[in-house]
Amino acid sequence: MTAIDALIVNRQVKLKPGDTIGILGGGQLGRMLAMAAARLGLRCQVFSPDPDSPAFDVVLNAACAEYADVEALELFANDVDVITYEFENVPAAAALILAARRPVLPNRKILETTQDRLAEKDFVKRLGIGTADYADVSSPATLRAAISRIGLPAVIKTRRFGYDGKGQAMIREGDNTDHIWEELGTKSAILEAFIPFEREISVIAARSASGEVECFDVTENEHRDHILKISRAPAAISDALAAQARDVAGKIATALDYVGVLAVEMFVLVDDTGPKILVNEIAPRVHNSGHWTLDGASISQFEQHIRAIAGWPLGKPVRHGPVTMTNLIGDEILEYEQWLTVPGATVHLYGKGPPRPGRKMGHVTLVEGKRAKTS
Ligand code: AMP
Repeated sequence: MTAIDALIVNRQVKLKPGDTIGILGGGQLGRMLAMAAARLGLRCQVFSPDPDSPAFDVVLNAACAEYADVEALELFANDVDVITYEFENVPAAAALILAARRPVLPNRKILETTQDRLAEKDFVKRLGIGTADYADVSSPATLRAAISRIGLPAVIKTRRFGYDGKGQAMIREGDNTDHIWEELGTKSAILEAFIPFEREISVIAARSASGEVECFDVTENEHRDHILKISRAPAAISDALAAQARDVAGKIATALDYVGVLAVEMFVLVDDTGPKILVNEIAPRVHNSGHWTLDGASISQFEQHIRAIAGWPLGKPVRHGPVTMTNLIGDEILEYEQWLTVPGATVHLYGKGPPRPGRKMGHVTLVEGKRAKTS
């Protein structure tokens, strides 16, 4: 790195309208980030290897290249003022090349923790925050040892690249664990105790470079086939538990020295001592369970992220009422015309190609107060 590069990288980001944000990843999250940036007078350039990236449709400049293409990464970096990402599996080498040229926010070092389930769980545990009991597993023998410590049922997950239930399996009493290990097809995994949770919740938190933290109201999430189907805000939990959940997210954001929006997925477990919160996963990015904020709050998660990485003041989000967000997955997108006629519904279609099973194609938001007024 030259002295000039070092100056660029270390300067505090302070964008002005007309400046350009580089977004790594061209999915619906990148698309909605770019749309939020445009509303604030900021431009975006999207970098993605997929020529059909839905985010390409909403920006003037797109870089369609592999993450291993050093020249393309350098050109991209030179064209933008700050770089962010919409997915957590940004290759470390690409992040390093970019970070030598422009500020990358959230800091690429955070990816080392959040790309690896074991590192992530260790990090959360070190903060004194509860998680499911877990163990490092790297062979059939270590899996057997982990089971005898943690017990069954349990969930085995690959340490890296798992999403929407991929790269994980339930292990129950009597299962052939050698076979399950083989099917998982990895050398590094973690075993987690199965949590008989009462509900799943998440907190979308934003943190600015100056350390200010703003959390959205806690969201309650319902999955189908391991994919998020419905989010509701606020979650049906006590104010005290909600405050605790927001506190956990804030503590995580601060410990990571995070700049931008992150999501913390949690389980609510009720035991003899009452309800308690266990952290399941950290997503270092805007998150599907925060899509309700687009129509259900004064500021969306996308705008908060843009504000944070631009060095602008965070918004103080106010929710408009009880909100429900429903994902349109696979063929459900074919019902979009029906959704368009639902009073109070706001329909978001991501402009993706063919609706494959499990593919997130769009979502619909309903805010209760609004429905009452318009129907
Ligand atoms: P993950 O990929 O870790 O977010 O897991 C996907 C989904 O699997 C979660 O949203 C839960 O519904 C379920 N799940 C994951 N880990 C556990 C666990 N330890 N106990 C119970 N359910 C789990």
